[in-house]
Amino acid sequence: QIQRALRSLSVPLERLHIMKGHMMQDMCKGLSRQTHTQAKVRMLPTYICSTPNGTEKGNFLVVELCQNQVRTLLVTLYGDGNLSPQMMYKIFDMPEGIMQGEGEALFDFIAQCVSQFLAETTSSDTSKSEERLPLGFVFPFSCRQTQLDKAELLSWSKGFSCSGVVGKDVVQLLQSAINKQELCHVDVVALMNDTVGTMMTCSMEGRPCEVAMVADKGSNCCFMAEAYLVETTDETSGRMCVNTEWGCFGDDGTLNDIFTPYDECVDEESSNPGEKRFEKMVGSLYLGEIVRHALIALTAEKAIFTGTDVAVLKEKGVFTIQHILDIINNEDGTTDVRRILEVLGLQPSERDCGRVQQICRAVVGRAATLYATGLAAILSYMCQTREMETLMVNVGVEGELYTGYPRFEEILQSVSRLLAPECMATLLPSRDGSGRGAAMVTAVALRLAAQRRAVNEVLGPLRLTRADLEKVQALMREEMERGLNKATNASASVRMLPTYVSHTPDGTERGNFLALDLGGTNFRVLVVHVTEEGISMASEIYVIPAAIMQGTGEGLFDHIIDCIIDFQTKQNLVTETLPLGFTFSFPCQQVGLDKALLLTWTKGFTASGCVGQDVVQLLREAAHRKQHLGMQVVALVNDTVGTMMACGYDDPKCEIGLIVGTGTNACYMEEMRNVGTVEGDQGRMCINMEWGAFGDNGCLDHIFTHFDRVVDETTINPGKQRFEKLISGMYLGEIVRQILMVMAEKQLLFQGRPCPKLQTKNIFQTKFLSTIELNGLALRQIRAILKELELDASFEDSVLMREVCQTVSLRAAQLCAAGLAAVVEKMRENRGLDQLSVTVGVDGTLYKLHPCFSDNLQKTLKELAPNCNVSFLLSEDGSGKGAALVAAVANRAAN
Ligand code: ADP
Ligand code: MG
Repeated sequence: QIQRALRSLSVPLERLHIMKGHMMQDMCKGLSRQTHTQAKVRMLPTYICSTPNGTEKGNFLVVELCQNQVRTLLVTLYGDGNLSPQMMYKIFDMPEGIMQGEGEALFDFIAQCVSQFLAETTSSDTSKSEERLPLGFVFPFSCRQTQLDKAELLSWSKGFSCSGVVGKDVVQLLQSAINKQELCHVDVVALMNDTVGTMMTCSMEGRPCEVAMVADKGSNCCFMAEAYLVETTDETSGRMCVNTEWGCFGDDGTLNDIFTPYDECVDEESSNPGEKRFEKMVGSLYLGEIVRHALIALTAEKAIFTGTDVAVLKEKGVFTIQHILDIINNEDGTTDVRRILEVLGLQPSERDCGRVQQICRAVVGRAATLYATGLAAILSYMCQTREMETLMVNVGVEGELYTGYPRFEEILQSVSRLLAPECMATLLPSRDGSGRGAAMVTAVALRLAAQRRAVNEVLGPLRLTRADLEKVQALMREEMERGLNKATNASASVRMLPTYVSHTPDGTERGNFLALDLGGTNFRVLVVHVTEEGISMASEIYVIPAAIMQGTGEGLFDHIIDCIIDFQTKQNLVTETLPLGFTFSFPCQQVGLDKALLLTWTKGFTASGCVGQDVVQLLREAAHRKQHLGMQVVALVNDTVGTMMACGYDDPKCEIGLIVGTGTNACYMEEMRNVGTVEGDQGRMCINMEWGAFGDNGCLDHIFTHFDRVVDETTINPGKQRFEKLISGMYLGEIVRQILMVMAEKQLLFQGRPCPKLQTKNIFQTKFLSTIELNGLALRQIRAILKELELDASFEDSVLMREVCQTVSLRAAQLCAAGLAAVVEKMRENRGLDQLSVTVGVDGTLYKLHPCFSDNLQKTLKELAPNCNVSFLLSEDGSGKGAALVAAVANRAAN
């Protein structure tokens, strides 16, 4: 019979695995927006988003509302890793009846305690000083918390039932009562549950504690969860402490098969039958009762205490946790066991003493095992959601079961290892979680608030309002007009260059075309077959040796023709004369579709005798020299135009081209009557805006920040391409780097440690913005990226860096949208439409690969140009296919 009783109290390992699985499911249920109201494991958000880092400093007041008592504490932290906080405290007994009286009286009493405590502990000069005194409020009741300092009481418990409090913000109630006491320098800044305090006291410099477990009369656990998983809050970045309230685990029946008849009796005799089933198996308030019911049953079966008086066992609560601990902690002999039982009024035999000891060990051992199972569920959940293969974590533990039973820690450690072998938990004892820990929560809250203010100060100038963007849009519109007007063109920052492309493809183009792409990453020759079935292409990359790039113009163009001849020979295209489109990505003054004067070489080219010349003519002369008749140059094409044309073949509404890659630029179809720089009023012409230079005349000075000015000054073309320098891939990483340097200097990053690596130019590439901003990317991965850059970022550093990247890329996308809004609105007005439907052909790696750039651009454009319905089409090979299509369209028009 004894063996059977002991067996029923031991839960097999497979069953623990199942229980761990249930606990994890319940945790997910508690965090999900849809299911959290039905979840037994409540998973309450605490709005505590950081653990102490040891720099916390100052005086903090704590008020804890306990059963029958109010405890006040004054904690002084020295910013020394929280190694030696100074503490003073006082406990006040609550007057009779106040727990069931009016809410106002309760809060007035708490405020009076604070007032009296401060009068006794602080010297008159500190109380007179202007310094604010932050207060943390430990309020261990069920609340709906919506901010760190905002929590509505859901229901009273533990004998409290004050009127007029349920549904009210208890922080507000306490603050009002404190104000009535003329303690206007005391600010209630945080409300918390005691478990969170435990976690906070165990965190020290360089050793964050991210899980806390309370193994006391009640039972609870909290941990730092990824904030985006806490769907019941709007917080998505970083982590937030979640109060699991796991005591109610099993209230839906998931633990039924491990309940013993003794557990059922304990539950039936409790004040809340059917509720808090997990807590009733592990909380020290209940362990004595479980033992008592086991002994009653065994006595009835005549397995123990035979023939003696056991009336005392009928008394609820005779076995306290202290009795149980005294019984089991006696390893050698049973003398103490006998003494305890005799004091209780039992007459045990030698055998009874041994058996009682076995039962007590089984009950407490089971509690420890179940704690370990819950802990394993939390550890595995953290490990999974952080996408880690292994998790190393510190766990703060507090409570009489933990301190009173030496084997508790051992069981906790070994069983949680068995159930969550991928996790390595280090248990840390916590002292006075609800007092010292509450001061820590308060201190961290203040540190974060101060940091937030400082971060906002740095990033504020980069955050653009709707009005800012509307102004940019209006300025772009003005500059466009100036660029189009013959009289003002020379002084406009947006050049609005005519391209002599007057039609977009209509789909009837047919034939074989050649294309050249010079000035991009590679020099390429292509053949493009435009057929009824669609477009197919073949291409080859050719090398231009440095000697040729820097030799004579003749040498360069001869080389190009040699490559074309080679290509046509290989492709069996020597018998025809093919029209050729030439994508030439250098600044040109175009004077006809096939006539463009080179303004200056860039990108390492210096071939002599070309600047000021018509590059189409130079190419034709080379062909003539080489007696190559297989091609006829029909068009010189800017890559923006190529992009528009390539997309225009698939979508006839595509009348805008946009590039957001290394640089940024746009083109669109303008009415000839508006193009003052070209003769003629009929039809349309594509205008290459060269909008990267927008602002070079100073019109955007008001939005440039300190960071933009520094980045501009360190480029090879200071003062030039100012709009581009706010938007494109070549610069965003540098802007971020400049911001990070300032933040490190202001000690907002790296905990004030110097970071020499940040001084390296271009160390922070724009592609890192894409990776860092990737939604749902575990912060571990961000830290890995930063580590590669030799930036030793903490978890919080990573969160802040992500915010910096988001701010910079959002601004870029919004500015780009403001520019486009000016374009589409002008097109709409040009055509006298109420509503314009138009497509933008886009190219550029930043636009294509950044996770939010395109969404932010489109969203802002909708706001700024509500009467335009703009679609975006990604271009494939605008400089190849697009150039061929320019040639094709010119051919179509000519025929
Ligand atoms: P280009 O503009 O020279 O024709 P791309 O359109 O490919 O070339 O753009 C290249 C630029 O895109 C690079 O200078 C870099 O700044 C940026 N870039 C590269 N990879 C990424 C990425 N993953 N996310 C965002 N930007 C990127
Ligand atoms: Mg490009």
